[in-house]
Amino acid sequence: MSSGDARKKNAVEKLFALVDCNNFYASCERVFNPALRHKPVVVLSNNDGCVIARSEEAKALGIRMGVPAFEIESLLTAHGVAVFSSNYALYGDFSSRVMATLAALVPSMEIYSIDEAFLDLTGISPEGAEALAQRIRKTVLKHTGIPVGIGVAPTKTLAKIANHLAKKNKMPVCLLKGEEEITEVLQQTPVGEVWGIGRQYSAKLTARGIITAYDLSRAPEEWVRREMTVTGLRTRQELCGISCLALEEAVPARQAICTSRSFGKPQGEPGPLEEAIATFATMCAAKLRRGKSAATQMMVFIHTNAFRTDQPQYARNRVITLATPTNDSILLVKAAVEALRAIYRPGYLYKKAGVIVTGLVPEGEVQQDLFSSAETGKHRKLMESLDEVNRRYGRQTLQVATQGTTRKWRLRQEKLSPGYTTRWSDLMEIRLT
Ligand SMILES: [Mg+2]
Repeated sequence: MSSGDARKKNAVEKLFALVDCNNFYASCERVFNPALRHKPVVVLSNNDGCVIARSEEAKALGIRMGVPAFEIESLLTAHGVAVFSSNYALYGDFSSRVMATLAALVPSMEIYSIDEAFLDLTGISPEGAEALAQRIRKTVLKHTGIPVGIGVAPTKTLAKIANHLAKKNKMPVCLLKGEEEITEVLQQTPVGEVWGIGRQYSAKLTARGIITAYDLSRAPEEWVRREMTVTGLRTRQELCGISCLALEEAVPARQAICTSRSFGKPQGEPGPLEEAIATFATMCAAKLRRGKSAATQMMVFIHTNAFRTDQPQYARNRVITLATPTNDSILLVKAAVEALRAIYRPGYLYKKAGVIVTGLVPEGEVQQDLFSSAETGKHRKLMESLDEVNRRYGRQTLQVATQGTTRKWRLRQEKLSPGYTTRWSDLMEIRLT
């Protein structure tokens, strides 16, 4: 069977959507601050260093991604650009809201990053999928205030490309379907922009005359397997419309809690990374306990700074299904550190890490695992005292030992917006007179 035949066969079988929040951090800053609507907004990296998110108006001013704030200070002042430090508590909370909204609209999804999710739309006709995508966009905007762009295509790799296309053409939804249309788009997509093709492969492919995504989809299968391993071959097949990558979330995620941070200083050593991941896991656990829920799955992710083109790049995540749904800090820290150890590689400078817990179930519904019930009982009492102490004396007064004390990964935040949704003292006040 040729790739073309396979594509036709597959096209009726699979359909994926990639939902990506537009200018996510900048959009979050706007939700509770309507005065910022139609105004340029930028969000700075940790330590208020570089621009990491821009509203459309800020992009129109020519502010580039990754530019150091001090270099454009006069431009920022001249145009009255609203400048914010990264407020990850706010972004994490909005991420959870967006993901929960998506989870309620489709039977299965995969949380891919803080502001992206893959949805499985298999079984829906192209017209139906387009209408559903429009409805998803409207619902997310209404429930959370966050605008999203959606790419729909027969494979995850093509859905990523469809999403880029939507963004480029400033369309909310882009459906990529039909051999001719896909071919045309692939011919216009540089191979380096294909999901999963890193800088190294990109340089290597270009040197061999494989310039566009289309060229890669036409490259001989044997050659691709030899030069780029089976991972590269999967990418090639996916470009041909043959779905090789399934959703990584088998269990439908009903809700999610995400805790992630960029580090004040990039971290290469495993120690500070473990402390950070452990801290994120305890923060997720505390949020779970506050909501009287327990998590079924956990995802841990780490990545290097994509803007440092002079440094080797690495990004991985690991999804762990927990033996029993839990909100126990000790168990969640243990799982998170295990996941981190599985994906951590030395020789890279990590910029960001995070923990996302998904598949939330009510605490009371959790079936106790017979073999761990004694331990679980002890832990529960410990967690209750931990929460009580931290409630009385402030967050992070009592910690799990893995969280450490060096805090090398901490960040500087001088222009932080309020924790509108996560801190009682920062709640908005509305006066009615
Ligand atoms: Mg985005």
